[in-house]
Amino acid sequence: MAHKVIDLHCDSVFYIMEGKDLLKPVDNIHVDLPRLKAGRVALQVFAVYVPPDTEKDKAFHFTEVGIDAIDVFAKSHEDLALVETAAELKNILSSEKVGIMLAIENGLAIEESLDKLNHFRKRKVRIMTLVHSQHMSWIESCTGTGKFISDNGRSLSSLGEKIIDAMNDLGIIPDVSHSSEAAFWEIIKRSKKPVIA
Ligand SMILES: [Zn+2]
Repeated sequence: MAHKVIDLHCDSVFYIMEGKDLLKPVDNIHVDLPRLKAGRVALQVFAVYVPPDTEKDKAFHFTEVGIDAIDVFAKSHEDLALVETAAELKNILSSEKVGIMLAIENGLAIEESLDKLNHFRKRKVRIMTLVHSQHMSWIESCTGTGKFISDNGRSLSSLGEKIIDAMNDLGIIPDVSHSSEAAFWEIIKRSKKPVIA
């Protein structure tokens, strides 16, 4: 069996934060070290999901705590390693280790701050889902309640455009899942680099 799997999303950090030991088989969940190895998963992206009802000034801290938990997990076994770069991913692919990549699910995490986005890149975050089930000030959700209103009358505000530019510059891949259709097309127009969903 030569194939290997790269999986771009799991929310399993919450099990780690609940105190479950994902180094051992855990009943009724999909991602633990024995299953990752059995499934020949070379890279598993762990996302810190920030619920849309998180208070605006608590989202950054909430995300930090999640990243800390993933960091500790990635360092807790010799068969695991945090992956940040293409070179590190190549090394992982030629080893028997399981790579872990950091993602944020919901741009609420950056609290409208490019400095905070920059901080998360320094913490090795490489993917950010821009929005979740509710509109934010700078981007329209596909399931948001109420009308989305922005400074430029579009579904991605001028701050949203700056955030896409900064993500392009920093090397954080925009994940367009949960964006409204109009916001999706705005992101496609704006981003100079590929996006994922
Ligand atoms: Zn998720």
